[in-house]
Amino acid sequence: MSGPQRITVLGATGSIGLSTLDVVARHPERYQVFALSGFSRLAELKVLCLRHRPRYAVVPDQRSARNLGESLKAAGLGTEVLVGEAGLCEVASAPEVDAVMAAIVGAAGLKPTLAAVEAGKKVLLANKEALVMSGALFMRAVHASGAVLLPIDSEHNAIFQCLPADYARGLAATGVRRILLTASGGPFRETPLAALEQVTPEQACAHPNWSMGRKISVDSASMMNKGLELIEACWLFDARPEQVEVLIHPQSVIHSLVDYVDGSVLAQLGNPDMRTPIAHALAWPERIDSGVPPLDLFAVARLDFQAPDIERFPCLHLARQAAEAGGTAPAMLNAANEVAVAAFLERRVRFPEIASIIDHVLNVEATGEASSLDCVLSADARARALAGQWLERRR
Ligand code: NAD
Ligand code: MG
Repeated sequence: MSGPQRITVLGATGSIGLSTLDVVARHPERYQVFALSGFSRLAELKVLCLRHRPRYAVVPDQRSARNLGESLKAAGLGTEVLVGEAGLCEVASAPEVDAVMAAIVGAAGLKPTLAAVEAGKKVLLANKEALVMSGALFMRAVHASGAVLLPIDSEHNAIFQCLPADYARGLAATGVRRILLTASGGPFRETPLAALEQVTPEQACAHPNWSMGRKISVDSASMMNKGLELIEACWLFDARPEQVEVLIHPQSVIHSLVDYVDGSVLAQLGNPDMRTPIAHALAWPERIDSGVPPLDLFAVARLDFQAPDIERFPCLHLARQAAEAGGTAPAMLNAANEVAVAAFLERRVRFPEIASIIDHVLNVEATGEASSLDCVLSADARARALAGQWLERRR
């Protein structure tokens, strides 16, 4: 390819967005920032624009667009500022773009990520919720457009690295017995069960190994993150839910493993720093420096494993059930979880009620076919409404 690759970073102000820009900035000869988006921390977005000089920036509303546009112009930048979901879809699919980092959190990332997929881009997928919600449609769009989908989630990136190059022929056909998905167990792995009633958002967001956005931090504490990742793995690698086993590995050094029929088990190891999977996907199939220090196994000293406890982590069980049910069940699981996590972060519900809300939504509402984007979005809306009603009744 001639000249640097042009990259759009959706969700540039977030944890993954910032790590992406850190890697990109180490390789100016390889990468050039085409567009950056932000939703809330717009002063930070301005700083990122000044540093990376994108052609476009995307913000949520007209007023912020005017403010950002004027201050960038005053600083001598020609960055054009676009607005809302339409702006996100535009910078995700523009003909000049080579690769899109999909790092918006939650369902809000679905349409822009799909726009990148449909435009046949190289799509670096951090926004797992988009794939969980619309898996069948999403993967169909990948195959139809020829988009190159590379997983950023550290576990899926690890699995991708451990699978044979021709894994798309099928797991069984390529000798894969199962996928072993590792989980840290989060901050409440050893908290007495009764004490979970009292845990705070601050405690839930204080992850022992990873520094991440607030939503995924709560998901890690409840292990819904692993549940979403189980569904994500099924779509990415064409696996059945029972082919994916979850194991708790508190050190977060092994990022996941692949078990082959001959008894070989391949693992990918590394320091828990998202710049490794980001650099891997950016440069794939080459390798580049990510800024992550080399793994010191003498300092790690030991690697532990344990089975997840269903009583402690009911969200993992709910996600597995949704994976098995298929159709719109994962979209509803995800939507109910987004509402429940936001309510927990606002201190409106206790931590164990996150699972109660999701369980309620999945029991009340019948799931259907996820055959179109409309089906998925209306399942998402129904699940949000039901979760909202649950919250109302609780007051
Ligand atoms: P974050 O909260 O730090 O950042 C989220 C980004 O999305 C921000 O740029 C924010 O401005 C933007 N955003 C939020 N709501 C939006 C909306 N309604 N419309 C448009 N943009 C919006 O989150 P994060 O930790 O960077 O996670 C991003 C995604 O990557 C999530 O899907 C998460 O599950 C996934 N992921 C994150 C990590 C990690 O280590 N942080 C690891 C694996 C996967
Ligand atoms: Mg992960």
